[in-house]
Amino acid sequence: MSNSPDGHTKENPYHSELLVNRLMTEGSDKETRHFELSLKSSGLEYLPGDSLGVHPVNCPDAVADLLGAIGFSGKEEIELGEDTLLLGDALTSRFACTVLSRMQIKKFNEIAQASQLEDLLKSENKQSLADYLWGRELIDLFLEFPQQGLSASKFAGLLRPLAPRLYSIASSLSAHPDEVHLTVAIVRYESHGRKRQGVCSSYLADRVGETVPCYLHGNKNFKLPEDPETPIIMVGPGTGIAPFRAFV
Ligand SMILES: Cc1cc2nc3c(=O)[nH]c(=O)nc-3n(C[C@H](O)[C@H](O)[C@H](O)COP(=O)(O)OP(=O)(O)OC[C@H]3O[C@@H](n4cnc5c(N)ncnc54)[C@H](O)[C@@H]3O)c2cc1C
Repeated sequence: MSNSPDGHTKENPYHSELLVNRLMTEGSDKETRHFELSLKSSGLEYLPGDSLGVHPVNCPDAVADLLGAIGFSGKEEIELGEDTLLLGDALTSRFACTVLSRMQIKKFNEIAQASQLEDLLKSENKQSLADYLWGRELIDLFLEFPQQGLSASKFAGLLRPLAPRLYSIASSLSAHPDEVHLTVAIVRYESHGRKRQGVCSSYLADRVGETVPCYLHGNKNFKLPEDPETPIIMVGPGTGIAPFRAFV
């Protein structure tokens, strides 16, 4: 892997044009997609075995639903480091608005003081907490334990940064110069009466022709043997085949 002369990195991603977004699983319950992204003029070079980091934004419906559940319009201002942002914008591109963790429940319950949550947080109730967390998101907490009069900045204090996701590169520059291909299983499921979707896989699934902020993530321990005569067995269930497409 080598980063571009323009210094495209995780912190300074390359805005790549999404050239192809093709459903590979027509007629199946599973949604797996093949993506082709342009690296033209990026100067980015990768090797089979490397991954592509993608910076997603949250789905507008997920942001609107969360704001609505708490009673915010999204126009509230919050401070984030040196920046002043509208809450709706921060929820779209800066904060993870779907995850729910033990720490978030702990912080939330400092405000909500709900005895059910207090019980779940006890060290002897680890399994009950894991069961509670499974399939729930931040919005479920606010729907189950409504909070009146919560300030936007206090709410922002509950949120974690929106993290990029890694995808195994499923192409080789020698076969596809200036392109990087991905094989992505799109996360969509229903739980606790709500339709849910994975932040980054659905972000990719729902677009084409637009630009996607991305960067290369090397993996020097996942490479073909130097000697091309060395026999290899490749085992990759599901989208685990992605890097092997690059090797082949
Ligand atoms: C090095 C590396 C390479 C990778 N390569 C690939 C690849 O080539 N292709 C690929 O598709 N992925 C790959 N991944 C996984 C990828 O990074 C993402 O984790 C994946 O796409 C899900 O991200 P998301 O943002 O769509 O979902 P998120 O928003 O992160 O949501 C995922 C979460 O949803 C919850 N969830 C999912 N299904 C259910 C369910 N049925 N019921 C309840 N809860 C559920 C789980 O808590 C899960 O952790 C790779 C990961 C790594 C670390």
